[in-house]
Amino acid sequence: MDSEDDMHDANDAESLDDYYSGDTGVDYSDDDAADYEFIDNDSDGSDDIVISRQQKNYVVLKEADIRQRQEDDITTVSTVLSIPRVDACILLRHYHWSVSNVHEAWFADEDRVRKTVGLLQRPVVQFSKAKELNCGICFESYPLDRISTAGCRHPFCNTCWRAYLSTSIDGGPGCLMLRCPDPSCGAAVGQDMISLLASDNNNEKYTRYLLRSYVEDNRKDSPFFGIVDRFVNQKMD
Ligand SMILES: [Zn+2]
Ligand SMILES: [Zn+2]
Repeated sequence: MDSEDDMHDANDAESLDDYYSGDTGVDYSDDDAADYEFIDNDSDGSDDIVISRQQKNYVVLKEADIRQRQEDDITTVSTVLSIPRVDACILLRHYHWSVSNVHEAWFADEDRVRKTVGLLQRPVVQFSKAKELNCGICFESYPLDRISTAGCRHPFCNTCWRAYLSTSIDGGPGCLMLRCPDPSCGAAVGQDMISLLASDNNNEKYTRYLLRSYVEDNRKDSPFFGIVDRFVNQKMD
């Protein structure tokens, strides 16, 4: 505190006043301002997402930390609801990555949640024993190994799926809420379909949208930044 003494030597009264008001002469220029940054460089997948909070604490989360957090939330929902991870991911995305909101809604009315989100309990289409099926988009006939389906089992050929997924992912983060190409069907199309059918580039883009939605939704939930606070809290445990 040498520097403070130097600063206030000229006026003892003021010095005392400042002392009791907690003014130590250190400039926390933005006491309450939630001044953080979110840097997400799309052009280079290797870049870390950097979140900083310019208060007394300055926290930087590596992209890997955030991914891990996201994976953990997916695991929790998947385990508690006994559903596949891909379905848990769809649910979380729909409920803005709030694990508690997913659990609450699910246990209040599972059927309604399934309907809203597009997680069907059983397929709406039954496959016959045919060796070939007609694609619902190009109407060509294909052997079964060239046909893919979402949970509803509406059959589309892999070429049409690729075009559908590519258009959707190119269109932006809306691809995270993707549904079956059949206009009358609301079945969700999850990351399993993307992994299976989309190009590497589109897979990367999709994963990035998913991660970004996680970060943005957590930021909305907290006056500062949910992720940062949770990170800090865990570090302090
Ligand atoms: Zn087709
Ligand atoms: Zn469908």
